[in-house]
Amino acid sequence: MSASEHPSGISFEFFPPNTEVGREKLMGVRDRLAALDPAFFSVTYGAGGSTRERTFNTVQSVRSSGICTAPHLSCVGSDRGELREILGEYREQGIKRLVALRGDLPSGMGARSELRHANELVEFVRDETGDHFEIAVAAYPECHPQADNYRMDLENFARKMNAGADIAITQYFFNADAYFHFVERARDLGIQQPIIPGIMPITNYTKLARFSDSCGAEIPRWIRRQLESYADDSESLQAFGTEVISRMSQRLLDGGAPGLHFYTLNQAGPCLKVLENLGISSR
Ligand code: FAD
Repeated sequence: MSASEHPSGISFEFFPPNTEVGREKLMGVRDRLAALDPAFFSVTYGAGGSTRERTFNTVQSVRSSGICTAPHLSCVGSDRGELREILGEYREQGIKRLVALRGDLPSGMGARSELRHANELVEFVRDETGDHFEIAVAAYPECHPQADNYRMDLENFARKMNAGADIAITQYFFNADAYFHFVERARDLGIQQPIIPGIMPITNYTKLARFSDSCGAEIPRWIRRQLESYADDSESLQAFGTEVISRMSQRLLDGGAPGLHFYTLNQAGPCLKVLENLGISSR
């Protein structure tokens, strides 16, 4: 079954570029991905407001494609006044979706945080703006790296869904069973909202390994060893990566995943190759 036949479909995440060249490139990427008529685009946010302006501007340029665009918003390092101001700006601009997060700050920089966890941010957004925004939150099928244990992490996840989130998007993973298990456990806790798997195309082993270590995404040994063996042969690495991610994505959709959310890293090609293998191309 293709993701476009699913109710939530596919979506793509971008980060706010910090150069003019990056901004122009992103507009080309956006256009190629907009041709697939995705459910939404989203734009990340530097915790503590470090990209406040750039996230805002990137959302404006990305949404001029006509595709609904969701800014990410994190609460760590910001006070209620600042969050209220940002929500007001987004409302004024007609933004209807948000990805609500706690975020991560370097240690010692959390002094201004009035809201400590994403469930408090979801509550705050609902208190301030009612049902104006469709709210997405983050989910961790392989457990959040700072969680005391799996059970508590799952309960914390349920807390933010119950605070008023409409959907969840997962951290990326390379093990479909971790996703299925997580969804089943969440359903056991009464969570009914869609949980969309986050998909990271594989394009560069060194960067992927570093980032996966920090965000708690496990690269299975058989994938890791094969990626290592390609060394500088990026063509073979990407061909293998596309095959692995396409197969996993197909399995996720066949198993009932309500869509796929791609971490694009502001590149269209790797996502398009995976989607083509799934039989999803522009309309
Ligand atoms: P929370 O849900 O608050 O969870 C964080 C930790 O606290 C977990 O260990 C949880 O078990 C625990 N916890 C949660 N609630 C409670 C509670 N009430 N009491 C006690 N413990 C609790 N980061 C950015 O900086 N910018 C982005 O744009 C961004 N986008 C992301 C998008 C997605 C889809 C994902 C999956 C992650 C994203 N991140 C982003 C990373 C995210 O900010 C980090 O993973 C961060 O460490 C946790 O954020 P959270 O919203 O999941 O936090």
